[in-house]
Amino acid sequence: MNIPFVDLAAQFAEVADEVLPGVEEVLRTAGYVGGPHVATFEAAYAQFVGVSHCVGVGNGTDAIELALRAVGVRAGSEVVVPANTFIATAEAVSRIGATPVLVDVDDDYLLIDPEACAAAIGPRTAAVVPVHLFGQVAPVEEVLMRTRDAGIPVVEDAAQSQGARRHGRAAGTLGAAAATSFYPGKNLGAAGDAGAVFTDDSRVARDVRVLAQHGSEQKYDHEVVGMNSRLDAIQSVVLSAKLARLETWNAARRAAAARYAELLADLPVRVPTTREGNDDAWHLYVVRVEGRDRVLADLAGAGIGTGVHYPTPLHLTQAYAGLGLRRGAFPVAEAASAQILSLPMHPHLTEDQQVRVVDALRRALGA
Ligand SMILES: *Cc1c(COP(=O)(O)O)cnc(C)c1O
Repeated sequence: MNIPFVDLAAQFAEVADEVLPGVEEVLRTAGYVGGPHVATFEAAYAQFVGVSHCVGVGNGTDAIELALRAVGVRAGSEVVVPANTFIATAEAVSRIGATPVLVDVDDDYLLIDPEACAAAIGPRTAAVVPVHLFGQVAPVEEVLMRTRDAGIPVVEDAAQSQGARRHGRAAGTLGAAAATSFYPGKNLGAAGDAGAVFTDDSRVARDVRVLAQHGSEQKYDHEVVGMNSRLDAIQSVVLSAKLARLETWNAARRAAAARYAELLADLPVRVPTTREGNDDAWHLYVVRVEGRDRVLADLAGAGIGTGVHYPTPLHLTQAYAGLGLRRGAFPVAEAASAQILSLPMHPHLTEDQQVRVVDALRRALGA
């Protein structure tokens, strides 16, 4: 029996009794865009993270772009971004006409290196985007220490950190604004694309709302050239039902992570650790191994679903070849990209499945 990397059908089975009538109501009343379901979810998510504003948008990439524009990033600006993240973090910058300035990460957690970030700041730097990768909380305080005096806003990429906390405070609540994604595979996933910007700054929230609806607060009164990026009513129904279970699901992920750490203790793999003060959300369980590609192939042959997040640091992608950065520019991100391997991780993963994953890994490693 194969072991899937994620199990979205098991998630749906838990919420089906709530989601199906809600979706039917939206369809029958034809309230597809905006309306009470969207407002209810936005309020619930703002409360969940502990901020005053949440603006639902079309997807996580739009959320980053909108948040960056709302804090003042313009064409010609520079925005500091870690080299190992999903490409969307940098794409959002590029779509504004700004330039992503990539920096390396630390070797322990693969999170943005605050020193490298400080060194990358220049006269055109308009924002820094720490990414809460794998469900961790990035060192935002350390980044803020290096940006505050210069008045450079920090926009947090919280796409992978739904439910992650640091000293009790939700990921995404230290900077000027945070962007999240409700892509189906995230800890809180919709039934399609969705995302949100959340912030305590009412001016930023208003600007995101205006930019996301064609630059207008009043219909047909267009203040700026915006875009169309909306959270749908149907997605809001799904998200509200799943949000009510997110803490329980994240607790199951934490238990699974602890179990992996025990099961993997005697294998030649580097297991992920938690930064002091963090309560991680374990979006992904990323180990590091030698001979990763061979191990990956063996696990696939054994029916184990795995992933690599991400196989190529951004500066080595064809898309960002134009930045002119060569191999060797970011040694930590580059070395990690050859070793990282994401094991199955989701709230419905059983202990028996984890034992089988680790057995297959042991055989693949010849240990
Ligand atoms: C998923 C993800 C995004 C983009 O979200 P989409 O909803 O797919 O546009 C951005 N950043 C990170 C780190 C992500 O994991």
